[in-house]
Amino acid sequence: MNLLLIKTMSIKDCIFYKSLKNKEVKCLACNHYCIIKNNNFGICKVRKNIEGKLYLMIYGKVISENIDPVEKKPLYHFMPGTLAYSVGTIGCNFKCSFCQNYDISQESNIKLGIDLTPIEIVNNAIGNGCQSIAYTYNEPTIAIEYWLETMKLAKKEGIKNILVTNGYISKEALKKISPFVDAMNIDIKSFSEKFYNETCKAKLKPVLETIKLAHKLKIWIELTTLIIPNKNDSKKEIENIARFVKSVDENIPMHLSRYFPSYKMKEIPTPLSTMNEAYKICKKILKNVYLGNIGETTDTICQFCKKTVIKRIGYSIILNLDKNKCKNCKEKIGGVF
Ligand code: SF4
Repeated sequence: MNLLLIKTMSIKDCIFYKSLKNKEVKCLACNHYCIIKNNNFGICKVRKNIEGKLYLMIYGKVISENIDPVEKKPLYHFMPGTLAYSVGTIGCNFKCSFCQNYDISQESNIKLGIDLTPIEIVNNAIGNGCQSIAYTYNEPTIAIEYWLETMKLAKKEGIKNILVTNGYISKEALKKISPFVDAMNIDIKSFSEKFYNETCKAKLKPVLETIKLAHKLKIWIELTTLIIPNKNDSKKEIENIARFVKSVDENIPMHLSRYFPSYKMKEIPTPLSTMNEAYKICKKILKNVYLGNIGETTDTICQFCKKTVIKRIGYSIILNLDKNKCKNCKEKIGGVF
């Protein structure tokens, strides 16, 4: 009986795929667009072709759950000072050699995790005083059917949905889920195709397209770049990232996060001087730039009167906002407040 329950809970028909000849399928959830032979998994190792149909093998299986300040996602202009019920599964469509969560993202044992139905996740969020659910820790796209159901239920209860993502979601999937997504934090891991190819086993261009599309779809977006010594920390590369962001919208908050050695990458932690230099470069081009993982937080300054509108002390905040307007000069601050 228990075994049956586990099996029922864990497998779900995928909706983002199409059938091909000879029982092959093409997954449409992310930009890998894996063509999967019968009885095989896609790159993410959680979507399996069984007799010409694609199944999500980890439906209802959460490997990690936490109640986090929304600032930790990081989202600095989205409901500051609130809590996000945060959930993740095993698996990932990237293979980043510096992954901070490699123990779950590179795991392929589909039996791991606790059973949580979409309604249980929403109830847990409400019961713990969270105003949002963050789909995070690993790449949420790979379990999109699980999260779409959860997002729909959350929306009905007035709970916001946040995707913390590498931006590799396909455009068809993003368009389909966008009515239920309130905010996204999207990584720009580098501005080099070589880096994406060698370090993440993916491509840069689709990530940039996702950022443009999410912005066009009016989802609140913030971006994160992990600055890694000798890998993506050149002045030119940081400047290229900032210029791209400006081409979409100079008001998009940009988070520059300090790297610490993890998984297969053994570079030294990013020197604080490099972080400060990257901050200065971005700040010349963008309006809202923040440093992360450096032991202190950055405040949000009103671009018009230069007063502090959100003061951050760790994950605590002091707001100097009247809804979405600076209390001092009454100018609008971009974000969801
Ligand atoms: S979600 Fe998984 S199976 Fe689908 S295209 Fe991406 S890596 Fe391949």
